[in-house]
Amino acid sequence: MPCSRSEALVEEILREFPSFRIAPKEGRALQRAIDLTLKVVTLGAQHEYLTRYHTVLGFTLYVPTRWPTTSDAARYVLLRHERVHLRQRRRYGAVGMALLYLLPIFPIGLAIGRARLEWEAYRETLRATAEVHGLAAARDPQLHDYLVAQFTSGAYGWMWPFPATIRRWIEEALAEIERTNRTGVSAEAEYAARSREVE
Ligand SMILES: [Zn+2]
Repeated sequence: MPCSRSEALVEEILREFPSFRIAPKEGRALQRAIDLTLKVVTLGAQHEYLTRYHTVLGFTLYVPTRWPTTSDAARYVLLRHERVHLRQRRRYGAVGMALLYLLPIFPIGLAIGRARLEWEAYRETLRATAEVHGLAAARDPQLHDYLVAQFTSGAYGWMWPFPATIRRWIEEALAEIERTNRTGVSAEAEYAARSREVE
């Protein structure tokens, strides 16, 4: 029986993706190779791949060295973000996902495919943050600065270096979360209900 919120979510993810698993990045040759590649192509701007970032490859979530000391609430929010990537992987397939995500790394910057995939997942980060810590936490300017930095810095290869765009996306997401909180129905649920009707 799951005893924590994040463990319960892992069980939920496993029901949706039976081959889902969590593995440490540390000590894996491929993960070390990715780390080195990222350091080279970003000229050292992304140097926290092994220690800070969580990465879904296939149906495995590779976790950084800090995972064992990460709080249950933080793990929960993270898993919500990563579940979006698992769904993207199912939607686009392995090749489609790799093309969308990785190809625009040369030249780095203006990687709209990667930016859209990550934004879909970070929107879920905002939604999960509001659920776990309240709307005020999702409105925290520090969180917004962090989100903006993910898109505009070398963390993901300067994938969308336009802070004003990211801030607009954040405001739109927060408005949607507030609407959902009031009505109890998300835009996705409304859309899904509509598509079920036409099926
Ligand atoms: Zn992501």
